[in-house]
Amino acid sequence: MERQSPVRPATFDALVVGAGVSGLYLVYRLRALGLSTLALEAGSDVGGTWYWNRYPGARFDSESYTYGYSFSQALLDEWEWSEHFSAQPETLRYLEHVADRFELRRQIRFDSRVVSARWDEAASRWQVATADGFTCRARWLVTAIGALSVPTLPAIDGRDDFTGPAFHTARWPRAGFDVAGRRVGVIGTGATGVQVIQEVAKTARHLTVFQRSPNWCAPLHNAPIDTESRRRIQATQADLLRRCSETFGGFLHDAERLKTSDVTPAEREAFWEQRYAEPGFGIWFANYRDVLVDPAANRLLSEFIARKIRERVKDPALAEKLIPKDHGFGTRRVPLETGYYEAFNQENVELVDLRETPIVRITRTGIRTTAAAHRLDAIVYATGFDAVTGAFDAIDFRGAGGRTLREAWADGPVTYLGLQTPGFPNLFTLVGPHNVSTFCNMPRCIEQNVDWVSACIEHVSRAGATRIEASAEAAAAWTRHVHEAAERLLLSRVDSWFTGMNRNLPQKKRTPLIYAGGLPLYRTRCDEVAAAGYAGFVIA
Ligand code: NAP
Repeated sequence: MERQSPVRPATFDALVVGAGVSGLYLVYRLRALGLSTLALEAGSDVGGTWYWNRYPGARFDSESYTYGYSFSQALLDEWEWSEHFSAQPETLRYLEHVADRFELRRQIRFDSRVVSARWDEAASRWQVATADGFTCRARWLVTAIGALSVPTLPAIDGRDDFTGPAFHTARWPRAGFDVAGRRVGVIGTGATGVQVIQEVAKTARHLTVFQRSPNWCAPLHNAPIDTESRRRIQATQADLLRRCSETFGGFLHDAERLKTSDVTPAEREAFWEQRYAEPGFGIWFANYRDVLVDPAANRLLSEFIARKIRERVKDPALAEKLIPKDHGFGTRRVPLETGYYEAFNQENVELVDLRETPIVRITRTGIRTTAAAHRLDAIVYATGFDAVTGAFDAIDFRGAGGRTLREAWADGPVTYLGLQTPGFPNLFTLVGPHNVSTFCNMPRCIEQNVDWVSACIEHVSRAGATRIEASAEAAAAWTRHVHEAAERLLLSRVDSWFTGMNRNLPQKKRTPLIYAGGLPLYRTRCDEVAAAGYAGFVIA
């Protein structure tokens, strides 16, 4: 398979930034519309998130068969996942297979990090440049740059002094890095930290976990897909995907009709025991409908999970350190785990509670806290991302009149449907701020995004128009709706990437970055807008 083709001419109908889950499908769809399309990808191959995040333990928290694309029946029929929650190497192989099968690589320029995008009003085109000096132009520009693609390193004194291997989980070496027999330090206990910690604990000589904030984790219950399950999944694949399209988060799991107060304490306990024993996000998304909105209901659920943690961690004092005290279950992203808590019962695993003994500095040989000097052979930063807007900030977007996107979003993003921003005609932002894909089983929402944007471009082109731009009024109304939807959930009161907070980026302001209205409502709103001739957009 040809990996990279000459890219002439440098004028296209459409440019796509990124060749991950969104970008690949978008290239496929735009090509089907007959548009000349080029995708510019910063990595050396396809895969996006699954290309960059190669850390040990990286895997789905979505059931594998709900994560794959649904647009091709042949693809659905031929691809067989080996596990209910597949690991990163298999997911990357899947995306490579998609690129090969649909011959998408011909339309992708790799090692091409986009640095600027300027709107040329006279030509009604975007002019795009990459870090290696390549420039190109197109009528349509669609970003498929991911919500979690800009890793952030902590601002800790002496970070560059450490002489051993040190990397962010999203920059795990492509050639691999074997932790076996080494003294490894992991900073960060979000969904990534939890996955990497439980895996590294298996072979590291010593693992020191530097925890600032514990998170509420729940069991993943992964298993290989046996022949019988495979037959069942294949027979019901269409139903499974239909079900995902009807749930709030695009997962198989959806909220119960009952509230915690509709049942007895014994019934509640039995129900939570059952959810805790089931695979996947059921405990988060298929729970009583008040647990993520009502503090009292949330407290009951949090107490249940805290009891589970106490049962699983032998040392009671250590268990208390692993139980969050400043936020309730499900108000930050719930890391799903396999033996995470049990890892702390191992002799070779040590928890350093940074709230008690903060890091003073990183030294040549390890990490020094106010209590001890921890000697390390390697440091792993599982310290998160400049979420959602970070990848936009990294590109110098200039829209109509030369206004930058950074200026437009200085007080928090202002978008219409999370897909366009006034003043930036013909620019569509898949998985951008205020977009349903940011709080979703991503491919399920991404397919909706891509289908809608492709149909929109087709509509505008067929009308003989060359320009579509969200009106300021429509964007203001959508942005208000996004804020209101977020405020209904307890998560809006807690610091996390959902609310735009990253303690390594003190300049960030609290603002909802995700759309918390759910997939069905989002799709309805998008469909209504399209049916009304793209109401809220100005087509010229
Ligand atoms: P994250 O949730 O932002 O967690 C970053 C962690 O690093 C937090 O525990 C944070 O502590 C800690 N940290 C940051 N700076 C620190 C410092 N200076 N000192 C000590 N600790 C520091 O990032 P993430 O774990 O990479 O997860 C991001 C998102 O990626 C997830 O929410 C999820 O959506 C996605 N993800 C998905 C999967 C999957 O689908 N299977 C797997 C992994 C990740 P504080 O909380 O105190 O700030």
